[in-house]
Amino acid sequence: MGPKEIIKDIYLVGSSDITDSKDCSIYLLDLGELVLIDTWAGTSVDPIIHNIKELGLDPGNLSTVVLTHCHIDHVGGAHELKKRFGVRIIIHDLDAAAVETWDKNLTGASWYGVNFAPLPVDVKLTKDEELLYFGTQKVVCLHTPGHTQGSISLYLDKEDKRVLFGQDIHGPFFAEFGANMSHWQKSMETLLALNADILCEGHFGVY
Ligand SMILES: [Zn+2]
Ligand SMILES: [Zn+2]
Repeated sequence: MGPKEIIKDIYLVGSSDITDSKDCSIYLLDLGELVLIDTWAGTSVDPIIHNIKELGLDPGNLSTVVLTHCHIDHVGGAHELKKRFGVRIIIHDLDAAAVETWDKNLTGASWYGVNFAPLPVDVKLTKDEELLYFGTQKVVCLHTPGHTQGSISLYLDKEDKRVLFGQDIHGPFFAEFGANMSHWQKSMETLLALNADILCEGHFGVY
């Protein structure tokens, strides 16, 4: 399977079907500069670059990687992208320490049997809602704890559609990863109130 267009300028470039069985769903936004939402567990950097090129886009325009939370199947490729393309890494403050200190347990890396390296973070989100702008396109980052303390969801309005990126909002919920069901319930209410048209999920695809 190759990369898929979801709507204009929004693509699925990696997933357990497209790149590696360990990988989460990896979304690419073409907003004048290229923005990735999440990365992969381990070794998928070349397939991802290949898929970006296959879409007719230049991986050299990758500027930003937004990490929805600290788990290895979402953050494992960020280090390599920073090294190759100098991308800016954005993650919520509450999940930043796990990737900065390379916490094998909180990132789930020991669980996945994957090696990682401390990841320098450029922007730590601290508010319930923060806005990112790429050209004139607004992307909203919402703090949606539950799966982990620092989980975020993103949405943007494009082509009359509201597209929501809710990566691991389905769980699982493990106390050792900082899961909290009452936080999760509140986060789900916030996300449902968005009335999104398209949900781009973390492991189960696009709805
Ligand atoms: Zn996760
Ligand atoms: Zn995941």
